[in-house]
Amino acid sequence: GAQPHPVKKPSKTMEINSNLACTIYRHSLSTPDAPAVVCRGQSLNYAEFANGATRIATCLRQSDAWRQPAGSPPRVGILASRGIDACVALMGACWAGATYVPIGLKLPEERILTLLSLCNLSAIIADEEGAKLLSERVLAACPPLVIHTGKAPAAASNPAVELIALDALPAATATEPALMAASDTAYIIFTSGTTGVPKGVMISAGAARHYVAMITEQLGLQASDRALETCELSFDFSVHNMFSTWEAGASLHILPATMVMNAVKFAQNSGLTVWNSVPSLAGLLRQIKALKPDSLSSLRLTVFGGEQLPEGAVAAWQSAAPNSTVFNLYGPTEATVFCLAQTTPLSITPGRGVVAIGAPLPGNEAAIFDAHGQEVADGTPGELAIAGVQLADGYHDKPELTAARFPTRDGKRWYLTGDLAIKDAAGTFHCLGRIDNQVKVMGYRVELEEVDAHLRVTSGADVVGSVAW
Ligand code: AMP
Repeated sequence: GAQPHPVKKPSKTMEINSNLACTIYRHSLSTPDAPAVVCRGQSLNYAEFANGATRIATCLRQSDAWRQPAGSPPRVGILASRGIDACVALMGACWAGATYVPIGLKLPEERILTLLSLCNLSAIIADEEGAKLLSERVLAACPPLVIHTGKAPAAASNPAVELIALDALPAATATEPALMAASDTAYIIFTSGTTGVPKGVMISAGAARHYVAMITEQLGLQASDRALETCELSFDFSVHNMFSTWEAGASLHILPATMVMNAVKFAQNSGLTVWNSVPSLAGLLRQIKALKPDSLSSLRLTVFGGEQLPEGAVAAWQSAAPNSTVFNLYGPTEATVFCLAQTTPLSITPGRGVVAIGAPLPGNEAAIFDAHGQEVADGTPGELAIAGVQLADGYHDKPELTAARFPTRDGKRWYLTGDLAIKDAAGTFHCLGRIDNQVKVMGYRVELEEVDAHLRVTSGADVVGSVAW
């Protein structure tokens, strides 16, 4: 149940603290009873949410395993699907001052082992589903501390790993969120890489904080809002859903993976005011004829992002959600969630039947370059590049790839998105496709070369046989 939060007045350091947990901490003091997160009939108000996070943070910080790789914050893996436990786990890691590293539950065991070997974690927090993946092999590769919900993993005999059940954690002693500098890494999200090894995108606390404050203001989110979560933590759209909702002091309503087909009913029952999803979900709901006129009339705001938004999907959506403004948000993980946006009335990309990606959001800059790194004239297609405060610090442990994808041009650091795009005479950007072989599957990014690399290894095909060019 709700325990009063230990600290009552924020200290002065809160003003310079870039920790993503600060906003939850503030709401836990000002609106402790307001609901923060709701899933499967369970909910936590801001006081309970902060209390859960503090207990985890206390345990992490007292652990012998708490170590800082070369001056950077300790890293905590989050092995959890979307849900209340996942939110508390993630917030606990943030509260403790850690860099959080989501580990997707749908990943094959080999990939989980690869991630564990890449990121030198201090601890892992697993929800009930995540704990099921802690096989003997995975546990052998785990950091020395694993906090879990549900039953203890079967292989609990590994003496090198301390397993602590979430509900056995001692009461909180940690108080405010630990101090994080703007340059500290807030999270690392791994995306598909062409060689078969995933790329860890490192986002600083400063970039994340900028994004959250900026987008909450741009969208006009309010404390009375009820916003939808449809994404796994390993997809950075979840950063938007969670933190913009909490920044506003609103409530996050998590759609369980088993209820995706019933998302409209879920929205109605939850009285959602804000919809957040990839357009594919709207397409799916349209296909199964779940989008009836006015069936989403409680929505005042719809955020689509992460993949192209087809014109037809928007028309069907607007008839189902007539009271909702629609936003199309564009952005790669490497530029902190979303960096360009367009809202109703939406302009369409000529000849492609998709919605334009709009203009840069505050703090971001966009330009189109040719193959030689020269900026092209308006109306000429080229590679879309992003600059500004949201750029990632680069890829974890991959200096060459970082240098190649984040070049400095005219004294400014850019990220080359790999998207073919044009800027029209009105200054609106349009996405025309990819210049590489990256595809999106329900919003998830996949480099086809990665599939290729795995097929070669698993089929025993001659890896040296491909032609370099
Ligand atoms: P991710 O890093 O998973 O967010 O994937 C980023 C890529 O998704 C971009 O480089 C685009 O190819 C694509 N993308 C994201 N948002 C949009 C959008 N609104 N319209 C078209 N493509 C998008």
